[in-house]
Amino acid sequence: MEVSMQNFVFNATTEMNFGRGQIEKLPKILGRYGRNVLMVYGMGSIKRNGIYDKVMSLLDDFNVYELDGVTPNPRIDKVREGVMICRNYHIDVVLAVGGGSTIDCSKAIAGAYYYDGDAWDIVMDNSRITDVLPIVAVLTAAATGSEMNKNAVISNPERHEKIGTSSLKFIPRAAICDPEYTYGVSKFQTAAGTADIMSHVFENYFKSEKGTYIQDRFGEGIIEACLKYCPRAMEDPCDYDARANLMWASSMALNGLIGCGKGSQSWSCHPIEHELSAFYDITHGAGLAIVTPKWMRHILNEKTARRFKKYTRNVFHVQDTGDDYEMAEIGIDKTEQFFKDIGLPSTLSELGIDDSKIQVMAHNAVIHGRLDNAYVPLDDMDVEKILRACL
Ligand code: NAP
Ligand code: FE
Repeated sequence: MEVSMQNFVFNATTEMNFGRGQIEKLPKILGRYGRNVLMVYGMGSIKRNGIYDKVMSLLDDFNVYELDGVTPNPRIDKVREGVMICRNYHIDVVLAVGGGSTIDCSKAIAGAYYYDGDAWDIVMDNSRITDVLPIVAVLTAAATGSEMNKNAVISNPERHEKIGTSSLKFIPRAAICDPEYTYGVSKFQTAAGTADIMSHVFENYFKSEKGTYIQDRFGEGIIEACLKYCPRAMEDPCDYDARANLMWASSMALNGLIGCGKGSQSWSCHPIEHELSAFYDITHGAGLAIVTPKWMRHILNEKTARRFKKYTRNVFHVQDTGDDYEMAEIGIDKTEQFFKDIGLPSTLSELGIDDSKIQVMAHNAVIHGRLDNAYVPLDDMDVEKILRACL
C-alpha cells in the first residue's frame, strides 16, 4: 500500500453557472461554439416543467435540432441516432438538458461523431475517442456529477452490457445548475440520486487513506450533506437550500476532487450495479442502495475495520467504543438504515430479481470493472456472495 498522497492531475474544467436564473446565460455560452445546436433530452419531464419552453425561448438565434427520448440507462441506439443528426446538420455544440442519462448520452454522441466506426466501439475502448464536440449541460436532477466530469455510462441491451467510458474531452465546457430545476424530481429519484452521490464518495473514500486528509474530510462532508438534505428535499421538494446542497454535492462528489491522490484502484459497487442495470434495467441509485451495505459487510476485515470506524465516527458522530469492528458495523447499519428511511429498496427481491443471473453478472462485473484491482480485490465468488446477500 502507498504510504503518502500519490501524484495527481485535477481537471475540473467545467464553467459552473450555479443558482437561480443562470439559464439566461445559455445563449452567450452556446454562442462561443457556433449556431447549430443538438439539444438532447429525456422522456418528457422538461416539457412538463417548463424547462424546454424556457430553453427554446432563449435560442431564437440558433438552429436547434432535437433528440428526445433518452431513457434512464441511456442506450447505444440513441447515441447512434444523435450522431446521424450531428453529421447531417453540421452540429457545432451538443446541449444536454436533463439528468445524468441525458448528459452521458450527449457525451457519447459528441465523441462518436468523430469516430468512423460504430459508436459502441468508443464505449468499449476509450482510446478510440479522438475528438469530441463541445458539450454544454443544463442539469435537472442531482445525482451523477456528469455535469462536471469525464464519464459516460451507456447500455447495450442486446448484449446485456452497461459500460462506463471516459475522456477528458467529455467534460462539459459549461454547466447550468439551477436548484429550482430539480423541484419536480420525484421522491424516489431524489433518494436514488442521493444514493448515487453517496456511492461516488464511498468508491473514493474506501481506498488508500494515506495522506489524503483533505479529500477524505471533503468526502465526509458530502455524505453529511446527503444525510441532512435528502430527507428535507423529500419532505419539501421546493426547499431551495436542500436542493442546492444536493445539486452541488452531485458535482463535487464526482468531478475528481475527492479522488485526488488516491491512486488508480477500481471502483467496487458501481461495476456490480452496472450488471444489475444491464440485465434488469433498474434505477442506478436503487441498485447501489441494495449493493452497498452488503459489499461493506463483505469487505469488512481486520485491515478495513479501522477505515469503517473512521467513517462511522466522522459521518455519524458516534462516540468511539474502542472496538474497530463494532464501530464499523454501526456505520454500515446506519448507512443501510438511511437508504431504507429514504424509501429505497434493500433487497433484489423487492425489484423482482431472482438468483438466475447471479453467476453471469458476477463474472461480468469482475471483468468489466477490473475488480481484481479494487480496494479489497473481488473475484467471481466474492461478487456472487455479495449478490446472494442482496437477494
Ligand atoms: P436520469 O436517468 O437522468 O433520470 C432519471 C429520471 O428522472 C428520468 O425519468 C427523468 O425523466 C427524471 N427527471 C430528471 N430531471 C427531472 C426533473 N427536473 N423533474 C422530474 N423528473 C426528472 O437520472 P440520473 O440518476 O441523473 O442518471 C442515471 C444514469 O447516469 C445511469 O445510467 C447511471 O448509470 C449514470 N451515471 C453516470 C455517472 C457519470 O459519471 N457520468 C455516474 C453515475 C451514474 P425524463 O427522462 O423525462 O427527463
Ligand atoms: Fe453513479
